[in-house]
Amino acid sequence: MRSWQHAQETLRATLGDSAYKAWIKPLRFAAFENGKILLDAPKKFYRDWLENNHLETVRKALTGDSGVAPEIVVRVAQGELFDEEDTEPAAERRKRPKRREDAAEVAARLAKLVPGYTFENFIVGPSNQLAHAAAMSIARSPGSTYNPVFIYGSTGVGKTHLVNAIGHAIFQRSPSAKVVYLSCEAFVNELIISLRHKSMDEFKKRFRKVDVLIVDDVQFLAGRERTQEEFFHTFNTLHAARRQIVLTSDKTPKDIPDLEERLRNRFEWGLIADIQAPDKETTLAIVQQKAAALGVAIPPHVAAFLAENISSNVRELEGAIKRLAMKASLGKVEVTVEFAEAALEPLLHKERKQTTIEDVQTVICEHFGLTLTQLKSKRRTQNVVVPRQIAMFLARELLGASFPVIGEQFGGRDHSTVIHACSVIKARQDDDPALRATIERLARSISTRRGH
Ligand code: ADP
Ligand code: MG
Repeated sequence: MRSWQHAQETLRATLGDSAYKAWIKPLRFAAFENGKILLDAPKKFYRDWLENNHLETVRKALTGDSGVAPEIVVRVAQGELFDEEDTEPAAERRKRPKRREDAAEVAARLAKLVPGYTFENFIVGPSNQLAHAAAMSIARSPGSTYNPVFIYGSTGVGKTHLVNAIGHAIFQRSPSAKVVYLSCEAFVNELIISLRHKSMDEFKKRFRKVDVLIVDDVQFLAGRERTQEEFFHTFNTLHAARRQIVLTSDKTPKDIPDLEERLRNRFEWGLIADIQAPDKETTLAIVQQKAAALGVAIPPHVAAFLAENISSNVRELEGAIKRLAMKASLGKVEVTVEFAEAALEPLLHKERKQTTIEDVQTVICEHFGLTLTQLKSKRRTQNVVVPRQIAMFLARELLGASFPVIGEQFGGRDHSTVIHACSVIKARQDDDPALRATIERLARSISTRRGH
């Protein structure tokens, strides 16, 4: 085996200077353990890219005269991240004071708001004007205008972004404000846990003593009677105290199935604002905003090309921009329409098929040599339990499927079983790099099934 330093020189020669700077230089050699080389990448993004594109090259570069290729595990650096551009020795770097997170940022982080989902980064157009105005007015004076504000629209139109912006703006002004933001699914889970632990008093305290309660994706309440009841009381308490309630959903209150009449009625008390798919101009502005946020220079005509040819779904556009950014930084080339066309080939024209839970199950069964029936069965032997848990975990991570839906597709299991499986695998892969590598390999084969 060769030293990391030696390998770096080889890699610079084989990959070229710019790819070397983009992908190899940011890595840090962490350790050589049990025959494995551990490398630390500054961000998950680097690790994924590296594993998908350069792992073999790196392995070759580390293979010495003995010809034995070492196993390589790329980890995402924990804790203090090193600066990608930084070439200063670590000792020098430590002397420099770190920028202090200001109080508003701390508050936003504790409230689990998504960083960057701010009003500043939100492009306003005809498709979202009303919802944006409502959100701004809440941020200015929560609880004093419309209550609740109910924002609905299909997926990817910016609902989550907009309601996070409310939280960020309030914390900017008063970091000690009590803003609770969570998905409806998280609300359901917290309720289940509180019921099980008989800690309903705390649950009530947490949700009924706030200035602003933001619940994302309330369509998730459909058919959940116990949660609806609790939500109803939370709603009433807050509303009576003139505390602000903000809800989002992919449907209007009327269209949410199996929703108690009294809740539906309350959801309609205040302002109902819709967000439509953005028009061309708004989409274009969003593309440029996202590109700037990712630090890529995309010329206007390329942005227009993306806006027209990829999708009107902002989430998909964002994926395309990221892909473009990576490809461009690799080749250090100018981003032209031809380049974008080539780089985004797989995303263009093709009828894309969504990955499904069946895809996950098929890949898992193939890998572990099980039949679908065994995977879904009630058998509790280790050789079935672990693959089943991994499959549930991947269905959750890759597809964002809800716990009940996953449970149903795995032989009608209870959602708490799925929650348990996901947390077991999450915990285990954290201290088992081999398991993590397997899971990541599986995740890749599942994603590449798309379009089959
Ligand atoms: P939803 O919750 O409606 O499914 P999100 O809020 O998650 O959608 O938005 C998906 C992505 O699109 C996010 O990255 C978000 O920042 C971006 N986005 C959507 N609308 C806008 C907008 N008007 N301006 C800037 N970014 C937007
Ligand atoms: Mg959302």
